[in-house]
Amino acid sequence: MATRTLDELLAEGVRGRRVFVRADLNVPLEGGQHGDPIKIGDDTRIRAATGSLRRLLAGGARVVLASHLGRPKGERKLELSLSPVAERLGELLERKVAFCPDVVGPLASAAADGLGDGELLLLENVRFEPGETKNDEALARGFAELADIFVNDAFGTAHRAHASTQGVARLVPKRAAGDLLRAELEHLEVVRQPERPLLCLLGGAKVSDKLAVLEALAPHADVLAIGGAMAYTFLAARGEPTGNSLVEPDRLEDARRVEEAAAKAGRRLLLPTDHLVVEKLEPDAPAEVVAQVPDGRMGVDIGPETAAAYAAEAAAARTIFWNGPMGVFEMDAFAKGTEAVADAVAGSSARSVVGGGDSVAAINRLELGDRIGHLSTGGGASLEFVQGKTLPGVAALEE
Ligand code: ADP
Ligand code: MG
Repeated sequence: MATRTLDELLAEGVRGRRVFVRADLNVPLEGGQHGDPIKIGDDTRIRAATGSLRRLLAGGARVVLASHLGRPKGERKLELSLSPVAERLGELLERKVAFCPDVVGPLASAAADGLGDGELLLLENVRFEPGETKNDEALARGFAELADIFVNDAFGTAHRAHASTQGVARLVPKRAAGDLLRAELEHLEVVRQPERPLLCLLGGAKVSDKLAVLEALAPHADVLAIGGAMAYTFLAARGEPTGNSLVEPDRLEDARRVEEAAAKAGRRLLLPTDHLVVEKLEPDAPAEVVAQVPDGRMGVDIGPETAAAYAAEAAAARTIFWNGPMGVFEMDAFAKGTEAVADAVAGSSARSVVGGGDSVAAINRLELGDRIGHLSTGGGASLEFVQGKTLPGVAALEE
């Protein structure tokens, strides 16, 4: 089944049509305490959204824009209003952005009907409505009433069947994928159908967070290299000492199953062969490199030998997918393993995709973003997609 691209939609013409755009304007906010004004901490997501919006507005569309912000849990929480985002968006687009304090209903309908060609209206936070995350039919119909065409450009929520992502899509006669969503899918598709060898680097905190992706990638990746805290659950499952490292005792069986799946498929699963250990997790704790974690110590980063081995795999790979830092990278002293791997991924000629909030933050902190093939904006969605799952928000766009 085919999904209409924005190019195709623009070629068909959008002048005078009401285009409902679901974007991801879920930006971090600052202030709001003791009467301070609420400010946008980082406007990366707003900037990213302007690409599709500019093209639609230039084509004469009447854009009704929707997004969630934070987790208001179905209540109207003023501190999670999108109104500061409307202001910032107006500055970036250099045009007036109307703001509707409602999500659906008479006020929203009147505002949408009042738009001229090439004008834009931002609706209030869709998660102020309890029906949003429940994919409520009436709410989806409320959105559909504002639209002739639906464009989804919010990859980060595409794995959720919500009223503004999946519900509305089915009720609008014409739909298309925005440029951001399309770029994400194209890059992640390379991981699903890789040029081999495919190296998957998985790290971060917990096996339990990423079990499904571990299970899917173990037989798929030529090499699955594991770091971060989750490596200790795998090492414990092999019966190796892990000291006070972050081990999930109830996941040992899962870790064994992942190892077996890799072995059965003839794939290599790599675990750290050395570690940086400390007694206490503090930024300036004395640390040493060891081959096995002794009692009373915890592993906070992969050691240099492991980093070199993973870097060599990155150099040999044709495709790389990386999710999850190799250590407690928030503390400079424990960021070396993550840095070494980031350098190797950036230096490799392989097509590379990095997903996950903390992994992307680590890449950005090292200013390596330009040298990575693709930084995925949607952590959960990118993990589900590389597992081979169908994303409801994407499936609903198909004709
Ligand atoms: P992402 O957001 O990229 O998906 P995760 O959220 O799964 O990544 O994991 C990131 C977290 O894992 C970071 O806060 C990091 O400090 C933590 N972490 C990585 N290695 C270790 C370790 N050895 N011990 C404890 N925490 C770790
Ligand atoms: Mg994270």
